[in-house]
Amino acid sequence: MSNKTLIIVHHSESDSSTFAKIKSFHTAPKAYDSMGDPLGNGWAHIGYHKVIENSGRVYQGLQDHQTGIHTVNWNHCSLAVCICGNFDKHQIRPPQWQSLIQVVAQWCLSHNIHPSSATIVGHKDKQPSKTKMNGAKYPNTCPGGFLYSRLPELRIEVAKQLAVAGLVA
Ligand SMILES: [Zn+2]
Repeated sequence: MSNKTLIIVHHSESDSSTFAKIKSFHTAPKAYDSMGDPLGNGWAHIGYHKVIENSGRVYQGLQDHQTGIHTVNWNHCSLAVCICGNFDKHQIRPPQWQSLIQVVAQWCLSHNIHPSSATIVGHKDKQPSKTKMNGAKYPNTCPGGFLYSRLPELRIEVAKQLAVAGLVA
């Protein structure tokens, strides 16, 4: 029985992100630049299970059974996908959208997750604010307003994929 009951959608906040850059940022030694922005997180591994690059190509980060590092208090029970881009500024690219549906549907199948607003969520649903190095809190908009507004559509598309697979979730 899988302990993963939740799928959390993230964006990278940057249109120049790649799987390799995200992995390198997560695993680089923890340090800050002169502006107080982080240069690396100092983690043992990438924080996400899957990353979808601008082209729509899907990269495997963590294995599903591993615990990610992406959403405070929710890492132990969740699977995390990060889509490259800043979806506070623009829409997800069509190939990324198609890949996102496939990734989420596959997780629903393999972990017996029923697609709903309780099981497929945006990062900000579970972590409404982030904390800066100086302790100041600021709103978390992840996975970006444009993508967040399409999560209801994502749940519907995933349910359609599961129906095609012959498994009505
Ligand atoms: Zn996030």
